[in-house]
Amino acid sequence: MAVEEVLSSNLYTQQVKKLYKVGELLGLQQDELEALATPERVIQVKIQIRGKDGKIKTFTGWRSQHNSALGPYKGGVRYHPNVSQDEVIALSMIMTWKNSLLQLPYGGGKAGIKVDPASLSKEELELLSRNFIDAIYKYIGSDIDIPAPDVNTNSQIMSWFLDEYNKISGKIDPAVFTGKPVELGGLAVREYSTGLGVAHVAKLASEKFLDGIEGKRVIIQGFGNLGSYAAKFLQELGAKIVGVSDSKGGVLDYNGLDYNKLIEIKNSHKSVIEYPAGKKVTNDELLISDCDILIPGALENVIHKFNAPKIKAKIVVEGANGPLTADADEILKERGIPVVPDILANSGGVVGSYVEWANNKMGEIIEEEEAKKLILSRMEKSFNEMYNKYNKLENQDLRTSAMVVAVERVVNAMKVRGLI
Ligand code: GLU
Repeated sequence: MAVEEVLSSNLYTQQVKKLYKVGELLGLQQDELEALATPERVIQVKIQIRGKDGKIKTFTGWRSQHNSALGPYKGGVRYHPNVSQDEVIALSMIMTWKNSLLQLPYGGGKAGIKVDPASLSKEELELLSRNFIDAIYKYIGSDIDIPAPDVNTNSQIMSWFLDEYNKISGKIDPAVFTGKPVELGGLAVREYSTGLGVAHVAKLASEKFLDGIEGKRVIIQGFGNLGSYAAKFLQELGAKIVGVSDSKGGVLDYNGLDYNKLIEIKNSHKSVIEYPAGKKVTNDELLISDCDILIPGALENVIHKFNAPKIKAKIVVEGANGPLTADADEILKERGIPVVPDILANSGGVVGSYVEWANNKMGEIIEEEEAKKLILSRMEKSFNEMYNKYNKLENQDLRTSAMVVAVERVVNAMKVRGLI
């Protein structure tokens, strides 16, 4: 298979392969696996806006509601020019396992709009966001399906979502969306909880597989919300950030990158390749550069069978959803490189969302420090659960161990409901 084919091979196929492997270990039958892999509902909508020039711009969006055995669907909304229906379904399935692993009272969902948000004005972006809610309004709600931010969406977009939802429903229900700004019932911690969680999981994994986090050289692919906060908290934990990248390319400096300088560059809407020192590298080069901890924190399928043999990191922590293909999993396992799976590593986002949602439901506001503690203790509990399973199962990787725990919970809930 050519590299191009691997890169475009869809995320859903990769996720189904990972599920089937777990199904074998759990002794699941083919019909049960099909029931687990198939989304309960996929909504495709057309979103139209009229641009400033008077011309109509038409976009396609999807919400995939994968599984609701454990509770209302929960997961983010991404805006990206390469979003497809298959990708959104795969991401919603990842959310089902993630929410189950973390023992959140949620099923899995995900939305995507095929759009390059950078090509729109702020007014167009607002209109697109409001029109998307108009289109999916009937299918969401604080006890039905609770969207949140994902790639290229943020608290401003959640505010437009909520305002539009409130207008249509005639009710003020802040718990329909999470990742809101504090003014609308959001939590300050949600802004950085994904990166905070990634950093702490990297620390826990370093304690098991290396000799601790202190002084470890870290490379982070992607310097968006997740990557930048992960860098901040990893540095606070004593690690050394030696490489970062964004869509334009990356920079490597084994003397350590200056976090404040990187943030300055990011805040002035420039690329990290403008960093004044170090060596400029491509994203592909960055992934196979020497380091202790590699965090692919951007998009899916970036580590595949062609570059997995060249990875030099001692541990990989999946910041993004689905950054490793099923082939890459096998290769890294054979090479003895532990991979902390996305469903645990980046779960700080949705655990933060859960705290926000529960507070909205109870009409309370939790203190920032308390929320932080709650998120980290929940993640540590799931890390230990995964690690214990890893020790029990023979010759299986961390992802399989985490998925065995997560899938089993969903299977049990489906069984008692009489669904399988
Ligand atoms: N988009 C994030 C994820 O992939 C967070 C989802 C949420 O908070 O609902 O986990």
